[in-house]
Amino acid sequence: MRSVLVLAGFLCLAACCACLPVMSQERAVVCIDPGHPSEVNSGLERQNGTTETHIDWAVALKLQKILALKGFKVVMTKSAEKQMVRNKDRALIANRAGAALMVRLHCDSSKDKGYAVYYPDRQGTKEGTTGPTKEIMESSRAAAEVVDGAMSRALNGTLKNGGVRGDSKTFVGGKQGALTGSIFSQVPVLTIEMVVLNRKSDADFIRSEAGQSRMAQAIADGVVQFAGTSRDGGNIK
Ligand SMILES: [Zn+2]
Repeated sequence: MRSVLVLAGFLCLAACCACLPVMSQERAVVCIDPGHPSEVNSGLERQNGTTETHIDWAVALKLQKILALKGFKVVMTKSAEKQMVRNKDRALIANRAGAALMVRLHCDSSKDKGYAVYYPDRQGTKEGTTGPTKEIMESSRAAAEVVDGAMSRALNGTLKNGGVRGDSKTFVGGKQGALTGSIFSQVPVLTIEMVVLNRKSDADFIRSEAGQSRMAQAIADGVVQFAGTSRDGGNIK
């Protein structure tokens, strides 16, 4: 009887010890921000049989699942597809979570095609706040290059790679200096325009379950690569 108890005790101890490294290790946090509805745009306009709000949400859920399986703690900026969240509040959610990276998912509407990865390349001002810091701009640029590279490998041959671009190239960023979600960000931040939704071939790709999965996996590859590039799990300070 005693030997059984000793054995049980030993097994319990062994099991607990096996857990210890996992339990004591802080998991890196990734904040996923499915774009829209925001104070700027509902994202509910129908384009080629779908809406931007729907596509951003569908890919976000797939990305959330993949990153959770990879061991990240995933924080979402909203909990339902049509929930309205202001762009400033989206940034504050990532800040509060101490995210190693904030990934903002969007679809473009333009004469272009394919995807592009945006980062804050200069400071902007919104509601009396000027940001982000030079440090955040640099880490965001590094993240953008890693994520764009990973997307290029994973999506090779399916969508055009528009490359890494500054927020200042966007309509809102051009006026403010940076996108609102970047101005208030205290963590590395990317805005990924996943496709050009008014282009039928791009829309056909991202409307399909397979296309959404492939996009989520491509972004996840980049997040994993970036989050592994610094000692504290990607939280570059
Ligand atoms: Zn958008």
